[in-house]
Amino acid sequence: MIINFDKAATTKLRKEVLEEMLPYLEDYYGNASSMYRIGQKSKGVIESSRTKIAELLNCKATEIYFTSGGTESDNWAIKGVADTFQNKGRHIITTKIEHHAVLHTMEFLESRGYEVTYLNVDGEGFVDLKELENSIRNDTILISVMYANNEIGTIEPIETISEIAKRRNILFHVDGVQALGNIKIDLEKLNVDLMSFSGHKVNGPKGIGILYVKNGTKITPLIHGGTQERGKRAGTENVAGIVGLGKAIECAVENLEEKRVQLLPLRDKLIEDLTSIKGIVLNGPILKRLPGNVNISIEGVKSQELLIFLDMKNICASSGSACTTGSIEPSHVLKAIGLNDDLAKNSLRLSLDYENTFEEVETVTNILKDAIITLRR
Ligand code: PLP
Repeated sequence: MIINFDKAATTKLRKEVLEEMLPYLEDYYGNASSMYRIGQKSKGVIESSRTKIAELLNCKATEIYFTSGGTESDNWAIKGVADTFQNKGRHIITTKIEHHAVLHTMEFLESRGYEVTYLNVDGEGFVDLKELENSIRNDTILISVMYANNEIGTIEPIETISEIAKRRNILFHVDGVQALGNIKIDLEKLNVDLMSFSGHKVNGPKGIGILYVKNGTKITPLIHGGTQERGKRAGTENVAGIVGLGKAIECAVENLEEKRVQLLPLRDKLIEDLTSIKGIVLNGPILKRLPGNVNISIEGVKSQELLIFLDMKNICASSGSACTTGSIEPSHVLKAIGLNDDLAKNSLRLSLDYENTFEEVETVTNILKDAIITLRR
């Protein structure tokens, strides 16, 4: 039996989601742009999924654009705004702890003549709001800050940042990939301009995501071609993916509180038991932390060796973001919260979802205790 404590990397498709998707993979394969009935059936289900998602996230259906996932949504939001407003200004503000989907997009824009300010975070990963205010310039066109950090689980003060952005008349993009299904998302209340989501982090399919674009926000398309997604995102629609995403978000939103109540004691037990071991420290905050996230640094134990040990015991875990696993570079997030190279390279991320149990927590804790003794030797 595998114990998967790496749910921030990806999650298992829910049965209900698969069931809703299957007819659109097997029978109703029509192209949504076709005039005939099976085409129109696809069109219909895309629009009903869009409407359902909009209701669940409290926005308008016309503000939901389907993409291939979080990475595309982040790329589109940032490059799209940068292109649209290039004559107004070429300065963008983000943070040092964003996902690489944001950071590498920023680096690309820097190579094209844009200027990017990377905000510092404190020891728990919270953005420095004073620095944010002070970084805003007349030519700032966009602020991009993630809702919840994928490595250390820090939940950023998005509503406050949104107020600052509105006051200074600057567009605000939020990478909401890790927040969806963990934090209640009310887009009207949050008052952000753009927000990215991904299907596979909420027990939906891979290769499907959303960019929320508040009505009236000007943004150049990233992908050109046909007139799908109201001319803003070309390409034949991933109908089954969209249906699955709709169902996954419905389940995630409906079960959000239940999941939270289930996960908090598991997370806190892991934190308590692991940090009681000598030489283990918690990375990230205790409060305002994702309910399924634990991230620790273990003195004298290299992440890579620990992950191999755990894998041999059928435990999936990670040293940080999945995209950087295998890389010998210490995590940029752990560096940003002030860890030295050694502690940053000795990190372990355990991330849980509703499928994980208390028994699994006990098993993993015991195996980790063994692993640490063995590897320290
Ligand atoms: N943003 C964050 C915070 C993430 O955690 C991830 C995935 O790890 C992404 C963006 C990328 O999403 P996707 O895998 O759908 O491209």
